[in-house]
Amino acid sequence: MSSTPVAVVTGANKGIGFAIVRALCKQFPGDVYLTARDPGRGQEAVAKLQQEGLQACFHQLDIDDLQSIRALRDFLKEKYGGLNVLVNNAGIAFKVHDTTPFAVQAEVTLKTNFFGTRNVCTELLPLVKPYGRVVNVSSMVSSSALGGCSQPLQQQFRSDTITEEELVQLMTKFVEDTKQGVHAKEGWPNTAYGVSKIGVTVLSRIQARMLNEKRKGDHILLNACCPGWVRTDMAGPKATKSPDEGAETPVYLALLPSDADAPHGQFVSNKTVRPW
Ligand code: NAP
Repeated sequence: MSSTPVAVVTGANKGIGFAIVRALCKQFPGDVYLTARDPGRGQEAVAKLQQEGLQACFHQLDIDDLQSIRALRDFLKEKYGGLNVLVNNAGIAFKVHDTTPFAVQAEVTLKTNFFGTRNVCTELLPLVKPYGRVVNVSSMVSSSALGGCSQPLQQQFRSDTITEEELVQLMTKFVEDTKQGVHAKEGWPNTAYGVSKIGVTVLSRIQARMLNEKRKGDHILLNACCPGWVRTDMAGPKATKSPDEGAETPVYLALLPSDADAPHGQFVSNKTVRPW
């Protein structure tokens, strides 16, 4: 078993994930795994980094596929005995003018951004080694969507005692409410992406609390963040940040020094803790 530190980035064949891998290859003292759901696109991305003189490793990972997540888990367990850095970056967003029915957008978006990310966490968090760092890429849109929720929903999402099961129930209810055509009446905002990212931010707060309760002595720091508005296939060419600039906050959180005890359980943008 290798004692080399290991970092894993999801959805890293392009966009912000790719830029995060690039930065980690330069700064992380260990093996950096670029993961992608499509091995062809993933290997191509690794080759692109190689042309820049950077060595990334590749492993397949589709966060929608539990088998794929478990295959990565078993690989990390066997080869490294765990992992040191996990960046949950993979995500999807329908374009604003997409005419896919809202209920379908809700189901598909929540499936990857919330449920997929949660499944990765369920399988990989137990493997994170002491002093590990976990970064869940959320979005400022989670904050604005929170503001668009009814007061009772806002209260639940801001609660310091909400459980993961309760959060899952709420995310499931959102999808169901869109199918019944009652999501607005039930207090939800009109954004599937926004609700999925509320899920990611709240999940991060819950997970950080669980780490405090169950693994206090392990000094693991886990945070959600917004990369900013970044020029990628998701956000388009008018966005203000380059992918490398978008990677800065996630990479800062992934590389928090071993003597840091904060931030933890926070929502961070531009390397600054934001109120939730
Ligand atoms: P992007 O260029 O569209 O890249 C998204 C990445 O996620 C791609 O590599 C994609 O793989 C991967 N992915 C999607 N579904 C996946 C799955 N089921 N399993 C594994 N990988 C999957 O988007 P981006 O702008 O870099 O976004 C990265 C993250 O930042 C997302 O979580 C996004 O919500 C967040 N974010 C972005 C912005 C922005 O302005 N760009 C702002 C706030 C937050 P394929 O190539 O195979 O599709």
